[in-house]
Amino acid sequence: DDLTDPQEADGDLDVEASLRPRRRAEFVGQPRVREQLDLVLRGARQRGTPPDHILLAGPPGLGKTSLSMIVAAELGAAIRLTSGPALERAGDLAAILSNLVEGDVLFIDEIHRISRPAEEMLYLAMEDFRVDIMVGKGPGATSIPLEIAPFTLVGATTRAGRLTSPLRDRFGFTAHLEFYSAADLTSVITRSATILGLDLRPDGASEIARRSRGTPRIANRLLRRVRDFADVRADGAITRQVARDALAVYDVDEVGLDRLDRDVLRALCSSFGGGPVGLTTLAVAVGEEATTVEEVCEPFLVRVGMLARTRQGRVATPAAWEHLGLRAPDWSRS
Ligand code: ADP
Repeated sequence: DDLTDPQEADGDLDVEASLRPRRRAEFVGQPRVREQLDLVLRGARQRGTPPDHILLAGPPGLGKTSLSMIVAAELGAAIRLTSGPALERAGDLAAILSNLVEGDVLFIDEIHRISRPAEEMLYLAMEDFRVDIMVGKGPGATSIPLEIAPFTLVGATTRAGRLTSPLRDRFGFTAHLEFYSAADLTSVITRSATILGLDLRPDGASEIARRSRGTPRIANRLLRRVRDFADVRADGAITRQVARDALAVYDVDEVGLDRLDRDVLRALCSSFGGGPVGLTTLAVAVGEEATTVEEVCEPFLVRVGMLARTRQGRVATPAAWEHLGLRAPDWSRS
């Protein structure tokens, strides 16, 4: 079921790690972001200062974690990884910050989910490389300022709009990652097949790429499931036909929509006449968390032109009706 969920790293963590691009040259696509980052890093190097804090924004599975590791590698720095939800108490963050070594990269995934107290601590840390540690409780509590080593924060978020403005303002640069083209995903899959030693044919690669929701993490996962099919039901070679047959088993359709995407569109069209309908209502109708619908399904459905987010709510486009094989109501007659 989670085959096309771009949020979750695989159970196959080792495989995901082995496929992760480590150097800039291995990171496919995103030419704008790469150029922008390159300038930020080179500028800092020329001046001999740590680079500004960097925010990476975009849907899950597009390479934010990978990019942060590449940034650290380019800087010749160590990277510490944590996430917003893991920083529930300010003390959790203080412990990490006070252990940083000069020049380290601190990566905070899902930074929009950081708790308030940790966020406030982060302001001072980002700006002045200092934290105030609270000692004691009640009227006797005092705060002890503590210097921390100059570091570069790389934050990642699927919801740049969720960041409070004081936090957003403290990043010197925000990179917006975009969904990948089928051609770029073909390169991602081809590289992965080489690493995994698979017999992937060019037409098989492009077929998998086309169905990967513009997302490298999904592309790699589909490749591995198609490989199972190729090994078990065919002779191991991943051809277009093998890819098609395999992905039919996993409910991934020709344009890469998975079952949840289609459920969302079907609910929108069949139960709500094409909308507009509110996000929460739509999420309840498909039995899914609103955040998953909003952060995972919708960006891709918007990108393929099947769903529009309007002020009044979510609306199905004619392409959605057509994709589902349904006839759109003819409002002009009513
Ligand atoms: P995010 O942090 O945005 O959720 P990740 O950086 O964890 O995404 O990427 C998930 C996986 O997708 C990586 O392990 C890697 O295999 C693959 N991947 C992502 N972006 C790229 C890219 N630009 N080139 C090659 N592989 C990529």
